[in-house]
Amino acid sequence: MKQMQKTPQADRLQIALFGRRNTGKSSIINALTGQQVALVSEIPGTTTDPVVKAMELGKLGPVLFIDTAGLDDEGTLGELRIAKSRAVLGRTDLILMVIEAEAKISELEEELVQTAKERQIPLIAVINKIDRLSDEQKKSVDSEIRNNVAELKAWFKRKKLPAVAVSALTGEGIERLKDVIIEVRPDSQRPQSLLGGLLEPGKKETAILVCPIDKAAPKGRLILPQVQTIRAALDMRAKAFVVTEKELSSALEGLKAPPSLVITDSQVFNTVASIVPETIPLTSFSIIYARYKGDLWTFVEGAQKIDTLQGGEKILIAEACTHRPIEEDIGRVKIPGLLEKRVGAKLDFSWSVGGDFPENLDEYQLVIHCGGCMISRAAVLQRLRVVKNAGVPVVNYGVCLAYLNGILERVIKPFRISVPD
Ligand code: SF4
Repeated sequence: MKQMQKTPQADRLQIALFGRRNTGKSSIINALTGQQVALVSEIPGTTTDPVVKAMELGKLGPVLFIDTAGLDDEGTLGELRIAKSRAVLGRTDLILMVIEAEAKISELEEELVQTAKERQIPLIAVINKIDRLSDEQKKSVDSEIRNNVAELKAWFKRKKLPAVAVSALTGEGIERLKDVIIEVRPDSQRPQSLLGGLLEPGKKETAILVCPIDKAAPKGRLILPQVQTIRAALDMRAKAFVVTEKELSSALEGLKAPPSLVITDSQVFNTVASIVPETIPLTSFSIIYARYKGDLWTFVEGAQKIDTLQGGEKILIAEACTHRPIEEDIGRVKIPGLLEKRVGAKLDFSWSVGGDFPENLDEYQLVIHCGGCMISRAAVLQRLRVVKNAGVPVVNYGVCLAYLNGILERVIKPFRISVPD
């Protein structure tokens, strides 16, 4: 049976709904998706953990709606729910801020608008429950609710934010909301090709992909960056040969002409770099991902900090998902070990895992981020903004390992001469 491969969540536009309790966030997702997905109840505070729903949204393509708990939640559990909702901001490409047609702007909305501005996340105001406005009220100049909707719209206009009045109950305004979401599409989600500028589409070029099958490799499958790179090569009508580092020499010998590009896993950089002649462009999955998911040149700049590190200095290692650390784990063992060897002294490492990325980075001398394969480009860019604002150099795993192995210049060379992303 043919199985449909879904777009990975991290490659979907992440649209999160925020607002006070019982403003109808869940119902809006149901109206947008045409499905009953989120918890809907008249009891305020029904939504606890963020609930997600993937769908195709017209010209926008694959999106992920994230339903969050009310920002005005109460009690210890409520505070926990608010914290979980706030953590969602770190991976949000677009905010739908929901407010009831009869409500006034409160500190909560003001704060969310300000946070969105600081984090450069586009925000659309959704004024819900306009079904409470009867046909007569819609015409009447004395209608309190009609005047309130007008006031809300004027407030958002002053803030230069788009506002759409909807009824999740009747569906009024929902199509308009979809159109506005498409209009506001964030730049960070522009389609990127993993191999753009590295291979020429349709030129039937050859690429060798080196995927080690070691303890770090998951059982029975390849990791996402490897799978996506193979797909990107096939999309460009290139011939992609997939080998482990042990078969690399014979693969090179077996080709009539040298490949246009060799892409390797960072963990076997040294072995691969010693096999591949200097005349053949060589890079790594993590370097390709650094450009696809973030800002390669920021990481390259950040790598320069490594040589001025002093013993005892604080380094944050940020991993965007909660995979189980393994023996010889890249972020727990390999990179810390190599860094301490380079500095010749002990360093003070801290780790952040999953959505827990610290807001305050003042105490760190360097941030080392993972490849971010499980989070969106927007989420990585948001983190880079936080790090840059704190004035802390940042590097990612691939760039860090390449630097430590003395081959950074070689693996970024294909990008220096390629079309910028
Ligand atoms: S690169 Fe980051 S997001 Fe991807 S598996 Fe590793 S820790 Fe998780």
